[in-house]
Amino acid sequence: MTSTLGTPENPLRVAIIGAGPSAFYAAEHLLKQLGDGVKVDMFEHLPTPFGLVRGGVAPDHAKIKSVTRVYDRIASNPNYRFFGNVTYGKDISHDDLQKHYHAVIYAVGAQADRKLGIPGEDLPGNHPATEFVAWYNGHPDYRHLEFDLSQERVAVIGIGNVAMDVARILARTDEELRATDIADHALEALANSQVKEIYLLGRRGPVQAKFTPKELKEMGELAAADLIVDPRDLELDPHSQEYLETANDRDAQRNYELLQEFAQRPPSGKPKKIYLRFLTSPVEVLGTERVEGSTVVRNELYKRDDGSIRPRPTDEYETLPVGLVFRSIGYRGVPLPEVPFDDWYAVIPNEKGRVTQDGQQVIGEYAVGWIKRGPTGVIGTNKPCAQESVNMLLEDMQAGKVLAPENPDPAAVEALLRERGVRYVTYDDWRILDQLEVERGKAVGRPRVKFTSIEEMLAALDAHKA
Ligand code: NAP
Repeated sequence: MTSTLGTPENPLRVAIIGAGPSAFYAAEHLLKQLGDGVKVDMFEHLPTPFGLVRGGVAPDHAKIKSVTRVYDRIASNPNYRFFGNVTYGKDISHDDLQKHYHAVIYAVGAQADRKLGIPGEDLPGNHPATEFVAWYNGHPDYRHLEFDLSQERVAVIGIGNVAMDVARILARTDEELRATDIADHALEALANSQVKEIYLLGRRGPVQAKFTPKELKEMGELAAADLIVDPRDLELDPHSQEYLETANDRDAQRNYELLQEFAQRPPSGKPKKIYLRFLTSPVEVLGTERVEGSTVVRNELYKRDDGSIRPRPTDEYETLPVGLVFRSIGYRGVPLPEVPFDDWYAVIPNEKGRVTQDGQQVIGEYAVGWIKRGPTGVIGTNKPCAQESVNMLLEDMQAGKVLAPENPDPAAVEALLRERGVRYVTYDDWRILDQLEVERGKAVGRPRVKFTSIEEMLAALDAHKA
């Protein structure tokens, strides 16, 4: 007779696809709830863990990155294994997972970006902010991209925190960037940057801005850039005024206070300028061979029947003479082979994390993080999100509603990958890479010099072990 599932004698075998924050919080909750009654394997496309904490969080936000210490602690649990450099759908299939695990948790985030859908959007010189972010953070899949930083004027479309990151990195001095773990290729390119004016364009008003007060305040304190806010943009329409007074939205209130301070502040003559503009939407990107400008329209706000405050264009147009455009209007999830996908919301359809197809639960499959709920929220938001999904999985385990893998032996997965010639990277390997990056940094007075290619990472591991 086999013993109860979820006990040390018969542990629950769980595969987590992805190694960002939501993946680690899912692993943590499983390990806490079941102790030795669970064995968690985490599969990651890159040899390095941490998802957007490594590849998304701005290099000048080192404090936010220190959350990786929590993930290190989770990874030191003997019931946890990391398989880096293993791509779902290529090195390991949906079928393989069904053979070896009782449950699979998809934690793949949102890897693409949204488009504006305006003429000229595909001209060279127009980029998704997400790609620029991945490039300056040394993500191996984006290291070869080129951005024409010989341009003096840049537009960043959208005013979420990613837009703030992009504008800030463009505005930082070489000295400031050198003190971060920004990728070497980006450090070099940005050192030669000619960018002097950055237009941050929000389609709605100051009360609807998505950036958070901390990020806004930081933008007003840059060493080499003045933040310029037009007082006209702060004149509120009645709907925004009412919202600000009644909604008890602390972030919106604080943002508005800060913006009023900035609008009154005369420019101090710093070499760069960041123009933060509201009620402005691009309607066309201009140029023949490459971006030469952008036509923008002034918006007004109105209240929809559902109570939301939306923008609509007026007849006031203007041309911004920008040579580079970053659209920072949100990430977008991409479908995984053999996993249901909701194309409209760009998420895996789910109920509280249980994957569904046509309204029916797909047994043994769960989603967490951005691929579950869409690309919103800060790192910490992923903790309750992952716990909710894992709680559903634990409930299903109790009810006997998980997969019945034919070979749950943990050694079988390693054997399978080896047989296929997949060179997987363990968590101990990652610790070596981590240490090597820090040592490379020390040698040049920087906190870390990242490896930015997979070949380079594997070669460094070989050299270290030799
Ligand atoms: P976001 O916060 O959703 O912001 C997207 C921005 O794009 C909004 O200003 C949005 O305006 C605008 N937008 C969307 N569609 C548009 C269109 N068609 N035309 C013009 N503007 C458009 O997304 P994000 O900046 O990518 O950030 C993703 C998540 O990561 C957020 O939760 C963010 O807080 C988080 N994050 C946090 C940090 C940090 O804590 N420091 C750093 C980076 C990211 P509307 O509001 O009008 O839709």
